[in-house]
Amino acid sequence: MIERRTLLKHLDTILQTAKFRDYCPNGLQVEGHEHIGHIVTGVTASQALVDAAIERGADTILVHHGYFWKGEDERVTGIKRERLKALLANDINLIAYHLPLDSHPVYGNNVQLADVLNLQIDGPLSEEDSTMPGLIGRLPQPMTAREFSELLGEALQRQPLHIGEETDVIETIGWCTGAAQGYLQAAVNAGVDAFLTGEINEPAVHLARETGTHFFSAGHHATERYGVKALGEYLQQEFDLLVEFIDVDNPV
Ligand SMILES: [Zn+2]
Repeated sequence: MIERRTLLKHLDTILQTAKFRDYCPNGLQVEGHEHIGHIVTGVTASQALVDAAIERGADTILVHHGYFWKGEDERVTGIKRERLKALLANDINLIAYHLPLDSHPVYGNNVQLADVLNLQIDGPLSEEDSTMPGLIGRLPQPMTAREFSELLGEALQRQPLHIGEETDVIETIGWCTGAAQGYLQAAVNAGVDAFLTGEINEPAVHLARETGTHFFSAGHHATERYGVKALGEYLQQEFDLLVEFIDVDNPV
């Protein structure tokens, strides 16, 4: 058991929350139990994750994608009402960390994905923009784009979409988890052979083809499972809490 206030202070300190200008509030989003002993972690605070947390008797949910995104309808109606109603009725804390959990040097999604894929990290994706999450580095060894697709499929249990010549050999790579298709240009500027992110859009296909940069779209959810999972495992050790990671499948 730990006091909610103490846990939040600790998380804000290690994740350096104050440094980020984010699209959502980081930290406590919905207040529940004052004492925390059982945390469910997951990528997104969907109704399915909330229901799973209730079923397990958890007092806290810790996620990468919480609520209250900039630009969304502020009214408490529809699915937002249902999710909040379930949290409040069960006194469950909702704690969310977005950009701080992409960028963290140990628990961040980008560093954790590198770990899962055995990528060597050489530096940030963008030298000019220090607020841009994402990294550049190298594959475990030079391999064809097809071989890297297979490696991704096995490691993430989801087949990636690849744009480029399957037989090309690639070695250097830039990556950013989630919906970072807009950062392809940063990878092009960095001069890497390939770019890996969770999602892809129509213009990114042309940019990839016309610059000769291989694009791997490996799943928003699939690339962002590992940060919150690692953070939860750390909390379990540090504070002797019960922490369970629940993977609510999402094909995107
Ligand atoms: Zn995301």
